[in-house]
Amino acid sequence: MEVKACRGCGRLFNYLGFGPAFCPECKDSQEAKYQEVKEYVWEHKGVNIATVSSECDVSENQIREWIREGRLEFAPGIANNTCEKCGKTILGGRFCDACKKAMVDSLNSVYGSKAPAKEDNDTDHNGPRMRFI
Ligand SMILES: [Zn+2]
Ligand SMILES: [Zn+2]
Repeated sequence: MEVKACRGCGRLFNYLGFGPAFCPECKDSQEAKYQEVKEYVWEHKGVNIATVSSECDVSENQIREWIREGRLEFAPGIANNTCEKCGKTILGGRFCDACKKAMVDSLNSVYGSKAPAKEDNDTDHNGPRMRFI
């Protein structure tokens, strides 16, 4: 065991040698905070980190740490608050408005170009008939 200064309150405590260096008291209050944040995120699907941070009075860094530890789950793309395609900062969701629009446009063009592809078969049907003329 070694004595360390708590990252939360600065008091010296017996560090067990693993995990973040927080004294037992801070760990307890952190744990309570974690439960509060977890419930908040659960009840507010699609909420972003900044909102959770101000509503639950927790630092964004702490929230990100929980996310890294896999203890907190936000909707995809919310945790980093950036568009998955172009990296622009967004309020929520996975893509910014411009990328969403671009994706809809490219979908439409795929459907549009599929329609005229049948004509080759028609010439086969007409082929034999021509002989009898
Ligand atoms: Zn402490
Ligand atoms: Zn984008």
